[in-house]
Amino acid sequence: MNFDLILRGGTVVTPTFAGPLDVGVQGEQIAAVAAPGTLPADGATLLDTSGKIVLPGGIEPHAHIATRVNVEWAGAPNVYTQSPEAASRAALFGGVTTIVDFAPPGRPSAAGLRPSIVDDVAVRRAVFDGHSYADYTFHYILAGDVPQETIDGIQAAVDSGIASFKVFTTFGRTRVPYGRLADVCAVVAEQGGILAVHAEEDEIVERTRTRLIAEGNDAGYNLPLVHSNLSEDVAFRAVIRIARYHGAGVYFVHTTASEGVDAIAEARADGLPVYGEALHHYLHFTGDDYRKPEGTAIHTYPALKSAADRDALIAGLMDGRLSTTATDEYTTSKAVKLSGQTLETVCGGHNGIETRVPVAFTKLVQERGMTLNRFADVVASNAARILGMYPRKGAIQPGSDADFTVLDPNLQRTITLDDLHADSDYSIWEGFECRGYPVTTVLRGKIVVDDGKLLGDAGDGRWLERRIDPAILAGPAL
Ligand SMILES: [Zn+2]
Repeated sequence: MNFDLILRGGTVVTPTFAGPLDVGVQGEQIAAVAAPGTLPADGATLLDTSGKIVLPGGIEPHAHIATRVNVEWAGAPNVYTQSPEAASRAALFGGVTTIVDFAPPGRPSAAGLRPSIVDDVAVRRAVFDGHSYADYTFHYILAGDVPQETIDGIQAAVDSGIASFKVFTTFGRTRVPYGRLADVCAVVAEQGGILAVHAEEDEIVERTRTRLIAEGNDAGYNLPLVHSNLSEDVAFRAVIRIARYHGAGVYFVHTTASEGVDAIAEARADGLPVYGEALHHYLHFTGDDYRKPEGTAIHTYPALKSAADRDALIAGLMDGRLSTTATDEYTTSKAVKLSGQTLETVCGGHNGIETRVPVAFTKLVQERGMTLNRFADVVASNAARILGMYPRKGAIQPGSDADFTVLDPNLQRTITLDDLHADSDYSIWEGFECRGYPVTTVLRGKIVVDDGKLLGDAGDGRWLERRIDPAILAGPAL
């Protein structure tokens, strides 16, 4: 057997083991995982990974790239988050080879004809095709009082490889009311998709915000009072109840509070297919940081909470109650990010896609002793499983795509904006000391980042069709 590329000498993290192994790649796929020094090297490119950890390529399950920023957040019309070229370039440098972004519903035509989900995804794909350094796919956004023809199109969407459907239970006209959510749950469950839910209790959020504004307390640092623990508690439980009634699987994006972690844990203990995501900055910052100078730069909806909530998220990732890390990537300039300073205008999201893997490695492996297998799960494998890309993505085993993040656990690096590759002029991680950092990234057999140099091409990234393993939807499979 001849190989095109051999990763030699590293600690390799497979689905069942982490230890000294070599990995042989043929073309775009992994062809062999073998004892050190046993793969024939003739003609192969050798990548020396000694002293390093070889992980499956990182998967970012929650990104908003080339998306129009709300006028109220940006303070101006027609402002967009960074391009796919910039975001995917930053992703590769941060050890991320697959990005899950979003496809929104398109506008009806002049004749009132509504594009199908498959049409909307095609429109969104055109933004990324030929413009992404990393592979990509999209959650489809079901918004408002979801039109019946859209619900009727879920089957065709799942058949075409769109496996996940995003729903918001708050955010004005985007909010899907619970009655309609029930209709959506029934069809998504029947078709083998999963719901990705931004769950906040709209009535609690709106009423609290209105009261604080009336009292003259509309400063952005009060966001945790609006997007509160109570809201998360009630909304997570309502969504779980509705999904349970119809047998739907739920992936809670950005869990923010101990109440959310508890709700997920109880659902899982009841045998329900419920999974939770935590954003990497929620593992470090707290609601107190909003009060620092430029402190609202850390804000991502719902809102950062207390130190106890932060610790609950970390504990949930450590013990399996939570399944994934993500960023809610939403990169703008600093001026846009900080333009709104009130409860109604603080911009969500942040410049984050590049920093998740090293920050999570520092917070979870170095500080808390997470195993390397569990770390691979929370930065790659679990997202691949829950969202229907496994084992093509998220696994180092024969037959999987040859996507790797080679991380040097001994490389200490203090994050500075100059070292990052996003199209932005700020980072909330400025000064954060990483204990371990990605040094080489491989996408489908091609070395795309090595030793600080970009070797990939903006045409390298490919669209991914997804199908969810029925075991993921039958119960808490991971
Ligand atoms: Zn988001």
